[in-house]
Amino acid sequence: MTSEAQPSKGTLRVLQLYPKDMNIYGDWGNALVLKRRIAWHGYTPELLEYNVGDPFPDDVDIIVGGGGQDSGQLVIQDDLQTRAEQLRKLADDGAPMLAICGLYQLFGKFFKTSSGSVIPGIGILDVETYGTDERLIGNVIMQTTEFGDVMGYENHSGQTTLGPGAQPLGTVTKGAGNNSKDGHEGARYKNVVASYLHGSLLPKNPAIADFLIRIAAERKFGSFVPGTPDDDYARLAREHAARRPR
Ligand code: GLN
Repeated sequence: MTSEAQPSKGTLRVLQLYPKDMNIYGDWGNALVLKRRIAWHGYTPELLEYNVGDPFPDDVDIIVGGGGQDSGQLVIQDDLQTRAEQLRKLADDGAPMLAICGLYQLFGKFFKTSSGSVIPGIGILDVETYGTDERLIGNVIMQTTEFGDVMGYENHSGQTTLGPGAQPLGTVTKGAGNNSKDGHEGARYKNVVASYLHGSLLPKNPAIADFLIRIAAERKFGSFVPGTPDDDYARLAREHAARRPR
């Protein structure tokens, strides 16, 4: 663990998008994991929030956003469109981002709810989502090439399909993932990681947290000098998650 006496390697600012309306099944935990691991790596974390109507901070290193009910997505939809260009530009520039469930859907092209409303997305991801009568719910394990086995919990009735511009994050070995058909879970574009998995995701999948932190440090400081995080709890959480029933 980094001694407190050592000078900070620099500040990394984590922005959480819409925590008031988009934050279910523990998604806030993703921001807390980033905060703790940034400190373990010897950098100084700063957590920021952006909610509907807030000024958008101009110096942001990592962006995270959580899930929400359809009603939460309807609340943020207009404000999100006012930030669409800014967020797309950041994603195109390689900013690291994590979008979970409801915000994953809105990072895509659109979400057509089961009641017929079309919530436009911001088009960072080449994905489309349609509300269905089927709720995909339960524990998920997927295999990924970048992060090893990734595990979490899904609960969504929107089903997402990827277009040619998006890569899946992984392939499920347990649970449904993006939809009930193709076995894909989540999406990747540049340094954007999108997933349906709550739980929250990052406590059980520190490889994804460290990816976001590494990219942020490299973009800001030109290199990433890792520290020595304490992974004991993450290991335990993964062991338990892997044994959970459907
Ligand atoms: N409302 C969306 C759905 O059910 C997202 C749910 C979530 O974020 N967990 O598809």
